[in-house]
Amino acid sequence: RAPSDQVQEFIFRSKLPDIYISNHIPLTDYCLEKVTQWPDKVCLIDGNTGREYSYGEMELTSRRVAAGLAKIGVEQGGVIALLLPNCAEFVQVFLGAAKRGAIVTTANPFYTPTELAKQIIASGATVVVTQSRYTEKLAGLNIQIIIVDQYVDGYLHVSALLEADEAECPEVDIHPDDVVCLPYSSGTTGLPKGVMLTHKSLVTSVAQQVDGEVPHFNINVEDTLMCVLPMFHIYSLNSILLCGLRAGATLVIMAKFELSKLLEFIQKYKVTMGPFVPPIVLAIAKNPIVENYDLSSIKMIMSGAAPLGKELEDAFRARLPNAILGQGYGMTEAGPVLAMSLAFAKTPFPVKPGSCGTVVRNAEVKIIDTETGMSLSYNQPGEICIRGPQIMKGYLNNPEATAYTIDKDGFLHTGDVAFIDEEEEMFIVDRVKEIIKYKGFQVPPAELEAVLLSHQQIQDAAVVSRKDEVAGEVPVAIVVRSPGCSITEDEVKDHVAKRVVFYKKIHDVYFADSIPKSASGKILRKDITLKF
Ligand code: ATP
Ligand code: MG
Repeated sequence: RAPSDQVQEFIFRSKLPDIYISNHIPLTDYCLEKVTQWPDKVCLIDGNTGREYSYGEMELTSRRVAAGLAKIGVEQGGVIALLLPNCAEFVQVFLGAAKRGAIVTTANPFYTPTELAKQIIASGATVVVTQSRYTEKLAGLNIQIIIVDQYVDGYLHVSALLEADEAECPEVDIHPDDVVCLPYSSGTTGLPKGVMLTHKSLVTSVAQQVDGEVPHFNINVEDTLMCVLPMFHIYSLNSILLCGLRAGATLVIMAKFELSKLLEFIQKYKVTMGPFVPPIVLAIAKNPIVENYDLSSIKMIMSGAAPLGKELEDAFRARLPNAILGQGYGMTEAGPVLAMSLAFAKTPFPVKPGSCGTVVRNAEVKIIDTETGMSLSYNQPGEICIRGPQIMKGYLNNPEATAYTIDKDGFLHTGDVAFIDEEEEMFIVDRVKEIIKYKGFQVPPAELEAVLLSHQQIQDAAVVSRKDEVAGEVPVAIVVRSPGCSITEDEVKDHVAKRVVFYKKIHDVYFADSIPKSASGKILRKDITLKF
């Protein structure tokens, strides 16, 4: 990395003023700090069971779980793993574990036994909280298993935590730099790494979004948030669960994404805020069944975790004209939120389609030239770097990777290429690693995917690189036709060629039934490249 003390540095900041952040408070206490103002308000509706939980109940349960965990031998600094789809127990155990001073690592229950074993061993988890159907995958591991959905012989049941005596809630002296959450990055570009997020990181990140006189992410007690994204991913855990709790909102949780169910819940519970990912935005923009539901309660829709093209944003707006649509940009290591649309602010700013937002408050962003390391000014694309108390402490047991990612000045290097315009709006071009190099020209697959999706007869698409003797790499497209459509390879190529510079043209088109995506809505390019 080039030394940064050379010339002038360009630092980008929020357009909103910095705020006071009480990041000395432990996470659970911070999130539930205002509960005495709304103890009877509904905190959580478990869409799976229809059961409702009040804020007062949730706070009490967090102390019981902390007591229960201490009782079964989980120490301060001990690690427990949550292997759960969205459910009330996820929330209860997470808050209780944080209260205990323990560390929670989260994993996708669909992971294979090998993937799970890796994470459980690497994280040092001694307890796994899960559903009975996943216990088989955990065979042979030296762990205590706690089941949430039924009583099973030989295993602890979650009632041992939920019904523990709150009077035995341990007094713990939690330091702001203690790790509280250990999510693993998605593994889109390599093996997932354990990301150490401290009480300070998460409190800061939540505050950057929802605290202060003019919150950047304006949610409050009147709001009902749709929690369909998996809480084992940091986007949902932070921006939906923790932000929602801090703001006193109601969360409607769903175990898995199913469009008609989602629409039904929005209508039934009068959901006001939908934090989604591009595949869900895509479904709402394109699926005809949307017309059958009353979605007028929705005020805001956020898309994050993966690129959302301008064309798709426009199609979505045409469908839900009264909702504010904007993006958020996050990365597990960044706590995770780096930027969010200022259309979500309490005093909203006009924003442009395609932007992933403006940097959060109390943070500094730099865009650096990927070759020279020099910081760049407005409208020049480079690698985005961020500094602030919200970023991770480091990768677990991996000082080398940590030093590579966080430089000596404290800037976290994201690996994403973006530029910022004069209105402080950030536009992501693509990941540094995913940019296709055609004869030395840069071709961002995300841009071509957006162009493809703008075609009515294309339901979904992905662009990947293929090795080429002459050009080095060429972009090829995988296309899912819209139902009943018969668009041809030449028509696809033509549609793109008319809209992009010559070197970004698509070289081949493959038709498929679906595009493989991760739980957080990311295109799994590695899987596609193997197939084509
Ligand atoms: P790994 O680091 O293990 O390869 P990952 O980077 O996919 O996995 P996450 O932390 O879940 O793991 O994802 C962060 C990445 O998601 C960002 O670095 C960025 O590339 C992408 N991303 C997030 N939000 C947006 C957005 N609004 N637009 C475009 N890309 C986004
Ligand atoms: Mg990453």
